[in-house]
Amino acid sequence: MSVRVRFAPSPTGFLHVGGARTALYNWLFARAKGGTFVLRIEDTDADRSTDASTQAILDGMRWLGLSWDEGPGVGGEYGPYFQTERRAHYERRAAELLAGGHAYHCWCTADELAARRAAQAERGEDPRYDGACRRLSDAEREAKRASGAPAALRFACPAEGESAWDDVVRGRVSFRNEVLDDFVLVRTDGLPTYNFACVVDDLDMRITHVVRGDDHISNTPRQLLIYAALGATPPVFAHASMILGPDGKRLSKRHGATSVEAFGELGIVPEGMVNFLALLGWSYDGKQELFSLDELAKVFTLEKIGANPAVFDTQKLEWVNGQHLKRLDEGERVRRVKAFLASRGRPIDGRGEPWCTAFVRALGERLRTLADAETVGAFALADEVACDEEAFAAAAAKSGARAATEALADFVERDAEFSLASLEAGTRALAAERGMKAGELIGLARLALTGQKTSPGIFEVLWLTGRERATARLRAAAARMPAGEPT
Ligand code: GLU
Repeated sequence: MSVRVRFAPSPTGFLHVGGARTALYNWLFARAKGGTFVLRIEDTDADRSTDASTQAILDGMRWLGLSWDEGPGVGGEYGPYFQTERRAHYERRAAELLAGGHAYHCWCTADELAARRAAQAERGEDPRYDGACRRLSDAEREAKRASGAPAALRFACPAEGESAWDDVVRGRVSFRNEVLDDFVLVRTDGLPTYNFACVVDDLDMRITHVVRGDDHISNTPRQLLIYAALGATPPVFAHASMILGPDGKRLSKRHGATSVEAFGELGIVPEGMVNFLALLGWSYDGKQELFSLDELAKVFTLEKIGANPAVFDTQKLEWVNGQHLKRLDEGERVRRVKAFLASRGRPIDGRGEPWCTAFVRALGERLRTLADAETVGAFALADEVACDEEAFAAAAAKSGARAATEALADFVERDAEFSLASLEAGTRALAAERGMKAGELIGLARLALTGQKTSPGIFEVLWLTGRERATARLRAAAARMPAGEPT
């Protein structure tokens, strides 16, 4: 039997880290097994579902490179893939459950249910449906039906026994049926609840493995009861552990960016994001950490998903991302930097290809995220640079700093060749002439040109800044340094 898995997001927001990881694990498992990856939109919550969110989720998936074999836009044998278009499927299964005595109609109103829940709370009991409509006599039921009042459909939960499964990640998990009450399958408005629609679709779409977050563990026993009532074999379940923020609390917006889109805006590239997501709760051999999507698809197994919570570590994300930026060929790296800077309103296209390539080369290993191009490369992008005043004051106080900086400005202004080689040779010659260490002059130049103590190579910085701007910055810096020799 070939593997069929699905990612089934509810379109109520962006594609978040947890959902993206679930999508990735399903995609990888399908690829690893030569199976099928289905995308199903669970949009039955009419109040919270939006088309914009569906679009954002699809865009997020495409950005990550997670294409789907069946689903929105591509169709497939088991469509439609939006739950709101699948009502006929739910109605058919609801009728099946009713006929088999596994479900019953419930006419309890929202007010009645609320009042009973309040009474249960007062008695210190867990809120649960009290089975009022399950106990109706045939005559009472007929009378309710005849009244035309809207009815929900509830599952008739067995009072005894247990619902258990062998979870690929967590081993044996079991729930006593008595703790599960007669939950709603179809609401009074005719829309199915998540648990019911999910089972019907997973069944009708021939899903073989359900890989999802462990926030769904408490739904699984209910879903298993529905499979059993329909006489169907349930899929294999694998519940991936939750993702925690650095403070040990469940990852949420409080921890900063959590949507895939937001990470893109922070300069994370898809290659880095998928690699990092894969490692959030999964590891290969405990050693190798860098993988492309294709490499992951070759080695991924559900068995290696860990049961312990995964901690979201931003430093690690940036490191992984930097490694992937390094792996790109140079032309592609330049293209990504250009696109990112353009999206930030700082296009560099106009400076020509050699400049763009030299710029990205100069950033070198400092480019861990595309956003580093904007910060580390600020000296080349903006007219003004922010100055580390303390470092500047310390360097400026050295004897001869001002005169040396002025002399460097004169040289830069007149260096006809203005190449990396001529800038380097001239700067070193100037230092020697003035009896300074080259490093000292370079330090002054660095502060004058970038405002910082550290930067990419100084000759690259000079060249990228350009003759005019470099000369002006050197002169402006010299003017702020103490004049003459200290006494
Ligand atoms: N729509 C559910 C969610 O977004 C899907 C859960 C499942 O995979 O069964 O959480």
